Amino acid sequence: MFKEIIARFKQGYRTMEFPAPGLALPPRGLGLPLVKQLDEKAAAACPYAAITPGAGGGLDLGRCVFCGACAQAFPEAVEFTREYKLCASARQDLVVGVGAFKRAAPVAADIRRILGRSFKLRQVSAGGCGACEADCNVLGTLAWDMGRFGVQFVASPRHADGILITGPVTKNMELALRKTYDAVPGPKVVIACGACAIAGGPYAGHEECVGIPRDIPVDLYIPGCPPHPLTILDGLLRLIGRID
Ligand code: SF4
Repeated sequence: MFKEIIARFKQGYRTMEFPAPGLALPPRGLGLPLVKQLDEKAAAACPYAAITPGAGGGLDLGRCVFCGACAQAFPEAVEFTREYKLCASARQDLVVGVGAFKRAAPVAADIRRILGRSFKLRQVSAGGCGACEADCNVLGTLAWDMGRFGVQFVASPRHADGILITGPVTKNMELALRKTYDAVPGPKVVIACGACAIAGGPYAGHEECVGIPRDIPVDLYIPGCPPHPLTILDGLLRLIGRID
């Protein structure tokens, strides 16, 4: 026991500062794209149809799985930075053009007033591979400790302020998603986490995937495949107005 206490003291404080100056994705991570000139060739290089060429086009972070194929083939068209602040409040804001990227805004002030300093989410795994869930889970570990911001995942939708959806929403999970959404007391927020939840990801167009129903309004989009924990935490804290 004594050895354990010594070891714990030696470990010191392990929770990372967030947000912190200079925080960025790891060297191999792909963050916010720097869009230069998207032409037909760059669009053809994307296996997920995330690039629309031309003046009004852009790179859709909702469809992108951050494989890097486009930037590798056509570095003159697009380059990926290590910027992790990728979340948006509206689906159309995820399309990155040559202009500035519009980051997520806080939910309405009356909802924030109700939330106070506590934000509880019920996570719904709606047919994904488990990667987005893993990166959400990591936020509960001591290195990230999102509980210090009052954010927690809870077991029951009755105790939640909203739902965080991962996966492309398969037919088998559609009813479970709706029941969970209905069970959350209003006013409630909805978060689409990961490329699958936003636009189907690698499963887009599959006959077994239905997507988030239109009558379940999404308040926050978290892009990535899976999103990095930095991106998820940034989005959640923006949504509740803890950072801007
Ligand atoms: S990084 Fe995104 S936009 Fe580029 S090829 Fe991969 S999926 Fe398509």
